[in-house]
Order: sequence, then structure tokens, then C-alpha cells
Amino acid sequence: MSTQHYTGLAASPGVAYGVAWVYHHVDLQFDRRVVGDTSVELTRFHNAVVRAVEELQALEAKARTEIGDDEAAIFDAHQMFAQDPELTAAIEARIRDNALNAEAAVFDSAEEYAAQFEAVEDEYFRARAADVRDVSRRIVRLLLGVREMSEMPTAPVILVADDLTPSDTVQFDKDLILGLVTSLGGPTSHTAILARSLGIPAVVSVPMSIDKVTSGMTMILDGMAGTVTLNPGASELASAQAKREAWRAREQTHRARAHDPAITRDGVHVEVVANIGGVDDARQALEFGAEGVGLFRTEFLFLDRDTLPSEDEQYEAYRAVVEAMGGRPLVVRTLDIGGDKAVPYLGFAEEQNPFLGWRAFRMVSEHPDVFEAQFRALLRAGVGADLRIMVPMIANVEEVRQARTLLDRVREELHGEHIPYAERVQFGIMVEIPSAALIADRIAEIVDFFSIGTNDLTQYTLAVDRTNPRVAPLADTFHPAVLALIERTIQAAHAKGKWVGLCGEFAGNPLAAPLLLGMGLDEFSMAAMAIPEVKAALRSLSRSECARFVESAIRLSTGAEIKAACQTLMRDLT
Ligand code: PEP
Ligand code: MG
Repeated sequence: MSTQHYTGLAASPGVAYGVAWVYHHVDLQFDRRVVGDTSVELTRFHNAVVRAVEELQALEAKARTEIGDDEAAIFDAHQMFAQDPELTAAIEARIRDNALNAEAAVFDSAEEYAAQFEAVEDEYFRARAADVRDVSRRIVRLLLGVREMSEMPTAPVILVADDLTPSDTVQFDKDLILGLVTSLGGPTSHTAILARSLGIPAVVSVPMSIDKVTSGMTMILDGMAGTVTLNPGASELASAQAKREAWRAREQTHRARAHDPAITRDGVHVEVVANIGGVDDARQALEFGAEGVGLFRTEFLFLDRDTLPSEDEQYEAYRAVVEAMGGRPLVVRTLDIGGDKAVPYLGFAEEQNPFLGWRAFRMVSEHPDVFEAQFRALLRAGVGADLRIMVPMIANVEEVRQARTLLDRVREELHGEHIPYAERVQFGIMVEIPSAALIADRIAEIVDFFSIGTNDLTQYTLAVDRTNPRVAPLADTFHPAVLALIERTIQAAHAKGKWVGLCGEFAGNPLAAPLLLGMGLDEFSMAAMAIPEVKAALRSLSRSECARFVESAIRLSTGAEIKAACQTLMRDLT
């Protein structure tokens, strides 16, 4: 068989080779029938929902222990969909009024419901449509008595699929997955995020029809280069084997030193902290050597539900993280919704360009209560902690003043009510809109710190929608324009004696370390899994040498040239 090479998008680092295992979604065939006794069908439907919820609870628990809070939250949301009163009523009506069998009633009602979500021009609602279909498949499958998966891999394999839903992925035994290859999805797709959090190499968006792959074929994937090789020759296999061994050995060496601080060759201690979404992530971050948290994304508390979380509910969630962190620095970001994360109960209207729209702190004029409650919960939960609060999506000085004033007011209220609260809390903003980077000198006067959000900063500087896989290759943080904004932000803050962190994906990329270190970045915040390798990269560097490297690298014309310069520098070091 001839060897075939494909290039997709690098989604999770590492090299894997082995046999392919092609995952096709289970085929759920059912008849559409008129039933004699609708009460029997209603009972079948209700029993299937009960079992679906049981399955989802088990998946939620598995995801929480094996993967993280964000993945677990998806299954919580699926339980809500399975029991959604509107959907349930529609299914019951179809069974009762049309004497339709339960399978067809569930399928038709869910399709109708999903289509409503799909009609909204918004990533978030499209994702909800996929969730509804995932839940409806589960209920139909239970009605048909079909097992979740016809077969499971029994030996280590490279999993090949068109795309994977959360339900698909969680049921695999992660120890048997050497790598993941999908023909759909971008670097921020579910598969990519999951692979990174599990430390499994992955390539997504591979321009290859999965029908061409049969289970048992040999393949190689390189999650750094984004390449996939089908039916490799002997010499390619040998070199993949050598690369994998080198990668595994490097990983092990890095893991062994994960808990040591990242001290550069010239003696600078660089703070390496984690991005988290909840308390389980916080615990995982500590296992991977995080010295604190540089970004706690609080929006997960607000998504996939029908009402706002109360101040007390928020307090509990924040307090759990404060306790897990045990006095280490904890940077909490206030609510960052809008964009690709809509919260229907806050009355979001459809927008042409949600990333340029009603996002994050911009909502304060309509919903001051939401931010007040969050500040109150945070200040209460932060007693005894090294708490730092930051506001995302800041474009101008007025917004910073407004946020500060609100925080001060909440503090006074708590004081007046004799409620214990954290008295010494640092206040900062995320620099993720180019305007904020350009006036960083003025903003630095009224904040304690900055955290640079390169995911959005790249999107806004280069006009590349971060959720659009077609333009994903253009979203290059090594682009000299993005780097210039990062450098300017760090310089402006340091000139006013303020510290700067960076919590976008760029911080977790070891190749970016010489640039960020050379620019004087104080704190690197990333997904827990990336910590050991970035710490190792920082240890191999000298800040003063990197400062000289930055001076020349930043003058290069393209992102590709700058990245290549970083590659050369890092290669020479190892
Ligand atoms: C960023 O924009 O870089 C960031 C860290 O925030 P998010 O990815 O949550 O928008
Ligand atoms: Mg952002």
C-alpha cells in the first residue's frame, strides 16, 4: 500500500505511531410506527430518560476525575437537556397525539429543538444544537437497547474519527489511546482541548476522508508539526519511533522536575502558574507544578444553566478554589461571556459580530448587579488568600475606572454589613484588545497588574476570528505586530512598577519562552499539562541573552521568521 502524507493542524504535542482504530458513530436505525398503546410508549420514554441521566451522571464523574471541570460540566448540561421540560413536553405530545413510537418522537422533537438553536448565528447556540442531538441519540439508543459502542479498542491505538463529541471521548480508556486524528475541528475544538488536557498527541482538521482509513492500518502522527502519515515506510517508522522515544524521555525528565521553580541560567525566578476552570483543575495544576493560578475562568459557573448563580453559590465555588490553592497567588477573572459564550438568561440579542459585541465587562451598564454579586462573592471567598481580581475585555481607561469604583463600593458595603472580606486584593485587567496595549502606560497607573490574553489579542490584532477553522492558520501570535503589542504592554507596566502575566495559549508554548522571557514577562500562566515543559524551557534560558535575542527577532518581517529564529535558539540549547 502506498504511503500517504497529510498536513492538518497541530492540536496537542507529541509523536505517536501504531495501528489506526476508526471510530464510526453507532448506527441507530429505527422504524417510525403508529402504536396501539401510547401509555406503553410514554413509559418506555420515561425509563430511557432515567437511564440516560444515570449514564450521564457516571460520565460526569469519570470526566471530573480523569479530565477536568470543563469536560464534566458538559455532562451536567446534557442531564439538563435530557430532562428539559419543553423538550419533554414536545416528545410526550408526539407520542400521545400522533400515537408515534418513542424513538421517532424523541428524534423528531430533538431535531426541531436543535434546529431552533442552529437558526441563531452564533457559535454558542450551534454547540447547544450538537448537545441536544448528542442527548437525543443517547435516549434513542437506550430505547433500542443498543450498546454505546459496538466495540472498543483492546490494545493501544491511534483513534481516527471525523469528529468526536464529549460523550464519545470520555468513554474511551485513555491509556489505550496513543493519539487522536480527526478530519474536522480546529485547534480550539473539543478534541484538541481534551487531547491537550490528557497529554495525548493530536492532529485535527486533517484533509483526509476517514473512509480511506481502515482499522489496523499503520499510521504516524506528529502533534507538533501537524502531520499524519498513512502506511509509512520502514525508515519513516524508525524515525517516528526515535522521535517518540525522545519526546517521551523529555516529558519524563520534565515531569520529574515539575515541582522545582523555573530559575533561568542567569538566576531569575520566573513564576509559572496555571489556567483553571474550577477546583478539580486547581488540584491538577498543583500536581503539575503550578506555583499558583494566573487565570481562573469563572464563566463556567454561569454557562449551561437557566438562571444566574447566586452570590452564595459563587462564594462556595470560589472558596473551594481558594482553599485548594492554600495561600498561593490566585488570579480570578470576572465574568467573560458574550463572544462565543452566550448566556441566554441575561437576554443576549443576536449579533452580527459577537466578538466585537456585547462581551464581558461591557455588560455592566445593563447588569451592574451581576458584577456586584461576583465581586462580593470573590471578596468574601478571598479571606486569607493571595487574591487578585482582573477584568477582561478592557478597551479604555473609563472601563477600568468603572470596575475599580464598583469593587471599592462593594468593599465598603461588606465593611458596613460587618461581613468578613479580603482586604488586600490586587486589581488588574486583561490586555487582550489592541487599544489597551497601546494605552497600557495610562492604564498601568490605575491597576496593580496586567495579564495579557494572547488568544484574543491575536484575534483582534490580525482580524482573525478565533473560532473559524478556515482562518486558523492566520492566527499567529508570533506575528511581529502581536509581539510588538506584548512588548509595549510589558514595558509600560514595568515603567510604573507593575507586574505582567500572560495567560493566553502562547504562554504554554515553549518556543515562545525566549521571546516572553526576553521581554521581561513576570508570570507565565498555562494549561497544567504544559507547565513541566515550559519550566524546563525557561531553565535552559538566560533572561539577559533572551533580551538581546528579542531585540533582533522582533525586527524580522514575518511570524514564520520569528518562530524559526526561536526554533534555532532552542535547538542550539538542547
Ligand atoms: C485570551 O484571550 O488569551 C484568554 C486567556 O482568555 P480566553 O481564551 O478565555 O478568551
Ligand atoms: Mg480572552
